[in-house]
Amino acid sequence: MKIEEVNNSKKEVSFFFFERVNLMKIEYNLIKTEKNTKARLGTIKTNYGTVETPMFMPVGTKATVKGLSPEEVKETGSAIILANTYHLWLRPGEDIVEKAGGLHKFMNYDGPILTDSGGFQVFSLAKNKKKDITEEGVHFKSHIDGKALFLTPEKSIEIQNKLDSDIAMSFDECPPASASYEYLKNSVERTIRWAKRGKETHRNPNQSLFGIVQGGAYEDLRKYSAIETVKLDFDGYSIGGVANDGESKEDMYKAIDYSIPYLPENKVRYLMGVGEPIDIIEGVIRGVDIFDCVLPTRIARHGQAFTRNGKINLNNAKYKEDFTPIEESCDCYACKHYTKAYIRHLLNTGEMLGGRLLSIHNIRFLIRLTEELREAIKEDRILEYKEEFLEKYH
Ligand SMILES: [Zn+2]
Repeated sequence: MKIEEVNNSKKEVSFFFFERVNLMKIEYNLIKTEKNTKARLGTIKTNYGTVETPMFMPVGTKATVKGLSPEEVKETGSAIILANTYHLWLRPGEDIVEKAGGLHKFMNYDGPILTDSGGFQVFSLAKNKKKDITEEGVHFKSHIDGKALFLTPEKSIEIQNKLDSDIAMSFDECPPASASYEYLKNSVERTIRWAKRGKETHRNPNQSLFGIVQGGAYEDLRKYSAIETVKLDFDGYSIGGVANDGESKEDMYKAIDYSIPYLPENKVRYLMGVGEPIDIIEGVIRGVDIFDCVLPTRIARHGQAFTRNGKINLNNAKYKEDFTPIEESCDCYACKHYTKAYIRHLLNTGEMLGGRLLSIHNIRFLIRLTEELREAIKEDRILEYKEEFLEKYH
């Protein structure tokens, strides 16, 4: 590298100065709806700049996207990242995060952060243990040490207020796909009462609060849940209960189709826990703006990579002498600098860089997917895009 090139590349390094550009709740701006579908192109103005939708949000469960620094996460083109209230409540505790100056300063992330309500973890991590759902809240045992815990809609919001994320979620019940109609009906009604209580507790003027639509794959329950939740006037709306426990793709698509018509045009729509490429495409086509999922980092730790031809497993012996990148067409750090043979070697020897490189690639894969979906919406060719994608992706 020539001296001038070194100097130029130095200038491009962005050092991490923590800066909040706005003090506000988010503002969604609908730019256009695709001609043939409900797909929407938009922007979200946040405390940390304006971001484009449709968008995929990587998950930083315990205030870290596993194995990656904030700079590495940002280099993938990610904007909003998600952190889990339940995990941060247990460790280190919301008071420590508050003392640190909030989640952004604590984890050194100068981009927008969304926190979930803890509801999903309460119902999934404690799923085989006894939990007691009452009108007041949920009694359950910590997945770490078995300690008795009690989470209420008010407590969830108080924790999120202290974490100081940019977007907080209402505390909802996440029933399994196997729940009966009668159970879901009661659950939807309770979740609406919980949403109201959470909203009344919410005290952070710079934090947006989303309501969550539940109701399984039942049209009348989704409609009721959406209408009643929208009446409470949230800053955005989530569609929940599509990635809890064994929901089919058909049920997921029904849940979206039955919820979307009752959500306001001028608010963000968030499909929770969805990160399979095809589900992101189907969600966007149905009018969803943002998605989150642990999938790209979780499968990376098991040696798997997303590619245009489907998922591949780098542990496979056939990559032993494959000196090509994970994907020739990918512009991520891992694909620009490393080969499949090297990543396979790292996985084979238990070196942590292997999972890190795959995480970078997998997150970038989903971010690129959303970038392409935005282009397809601009050009009114999202159905063609889907066809082209599906032809190759198996
Ligand atoms: Zn890549």
